[in-house]
Amino acid sequence: MKRIQMVDLVSQHDKIRAELDLAIARVINSAVFINGPDVKAFGEELAAYTGAKFVIPCANGTDALQIAMMALGLKPGDEVIVPAFTYVATAEVIALLGLTPVLIDVNEQTFCVEPELIEKAITASTKAIVPVHLFGQCADMEQILTLAQKHNLFVIEDTAQAIGAEYTFADGTKKQAGTMGTIGTTSFFPSKNLGCMGDGGALFTNDETLAKKILMIANHGQSVQYIHEEVGVNSRLDTIQAAILRVKLKNLNSYKIARQQAAACYDRYFLDHPNFQIPVRAPKSTHVFHQYTLKLTGVDRKVLREFLASKGVPSMVYYPYPLHLQKAYSNKKYKPGHFPVSELLCEQVISLPISSEMDDEQLEYICSSVTEFCSIQIKNSN
Ligand SMILES: *Cc1c(COP(=O)(O)O)cnc(C)c1O
Repeated sequence: MKRIQMVDLVSQHDKIRAELDLAIARVINSAVFINGPDVKAFGEELAAYTGAKFVIPCANGTDALQIAMMALGLKPGDEVIVPAFTYVATAEVIALLGLTPVLIDVNEQTFCVEPELIEKAITASTKAIVPVHLFGQCADMEQILTLAQKHNLFVIEDTAQAIGAEYTFADGTKKQAGTMGTIGTTSFFPSKNLGCMGDGGALFTNDETLAKKILMIANHGQSVQYIHEEVGVNSRLDTIQAAILRVKLKNLNSYKIARQQAAACYDRYFLDHPNFQIPVRAPKSTHVFHQYTLKLTGVDRKVLREFLASKGVPSMVYYPYPLHLQKAYSNKKYKPGHFPVSELLCEQVISLPISSEMDDEQLEYICSSVTEFCSIQIKNSN
């Protein structure tokens, strides 16, 4: 059996190795490593794929979030609503810009922000909401967009984990993750569903004025060389990464389907299992399974993970602590118990290996390892 990894990038790349080598060689031969033609072409191809009018590549997903907040002109004192159960990058850039991250709890089934809780958190200072399409499915965008319109707020979709997920509105309109809000941001970190071979990221928008502003901010605040209209940042996608991403984008649909098939296989095994709850599908979104995350009950997670590791099955906990209990984001208001769902999820979740490259033998082995663990547990408790 192939060694089981959380994400098997070597096997993924082996299948397209010749094309990747050619793409990389093309950039090396051109020696245009910064802002080469592949960067522009990749942006256009990703726009065509997602349906966003404008795609602006940048250096990573964290920068994408920061540039989004800067482009929207958010100022110190402005409040930005973010989930307490997410990767830290989402809140980090808010704090870094001197804005105020206002944390809220998430939905216990979908792990995404709960529109009702957003509404309760809105104050006169609220300027934006950052829904995170966590683990690969979209937050309830229809309700979030309605709320945003009502309260005149920007919506920045953190799509780092959900590129290619599709959301269906009540009128039947379908839109991809990242293309529904004011700005969408994503990451091409190697293990993301569309990953490069280093760091990379992008912003999506349908607003031409905003697209120009994003481009300007990502490029030292200049749209004409040496004319700096605003304080910007230096955030570029390397040409080599763009060339790699162009090859991988062509395969994104097949990667997505492979992940969904692996998830369906896990589902069949864990469905109705007394100790494991399979990922609940958000009613209006497809799921692209950046993570396959189970909720555990009546199982000691640490012992389970150690057992699996001893059988050669890696697992991860995304995320072990909610943001409000992290020193960097704590404040007087946020005590343990403040966001009970996020806190409970941090104790209950476990993510199993999932990637475009899993075969039936690996999936069966993982599931039977879990079975073995459960039978040992039952024996021990009797
Ligand atoms: C990965 C990730 C990011 C950050 O992306 P980087 O490219 O690593 O900076 C932001 N938000 C979420 C939800 C992520 O998963």
